[in-house]
Amino acid sequence: MYNEVTRYYEMLANSAIINHNTKRNYLKHNSICKFCGAKATTIDHIIPCQVFEMTMEFEEDFRSAIRDKSNWQPACKACNKRKRAAFTIKDIPTYLYNKYKDCIDKYIALRKQVLEIQNYKCAGCGKEVTEDTTVLRYKRNYNGERDNIHGMIVTCIEHETRN
Ligand SMILES: [Zn+2]
Ligand SMILES: [Zn+2]
Repeated sequence: MYNEVTRYYEMLANSAIINHNTKRNYLKHNSICKFCGAKATTIDHIIPCQVFEMTMEFEEDFRSAIRDKSNWQPACKACNKRKRAAFTIKDIPTYLYNKYKDCIDKYIALRKQVLEIQNYKCAGCGKEVTEDTTVLRYKRNYNGERDNIHGMIVTCIEHETRN
């Protein structure tokens, strides 16, 4: 059965979802890091993959969102890593927001709910956090129903790592 863990590892092994040649070709034509101007070696998803992961019900919807080039931007490894899955709504261009409004709104609402439960503290380090600098994710080994906020935590970017 397809589950969040499978999904996450597929996401890490980008090639499982984004064809290697597609990626290479994209970076050939989009070779400058959007953030710092260095040589781009990775594809950054403007709306983080995690937003889709946390809100989409069907595998095929998730895959096509990950493959959607209108949500790609070139990035160097360092900038991609620094950004991870944190985002603010103003980072998202209107055309993308309109396209994935349901997912974005749902993600932001869930993130806010979980943050309120956690009193705006990172579940990893306990430091005070704001919505814009945090990432919503499932608890380790969580196998409950999707959308169950009790199976979710919010962390700062530094403590986003899983398992
Ligand atoms: Zn960069
Ligand atoms: Zn933390």
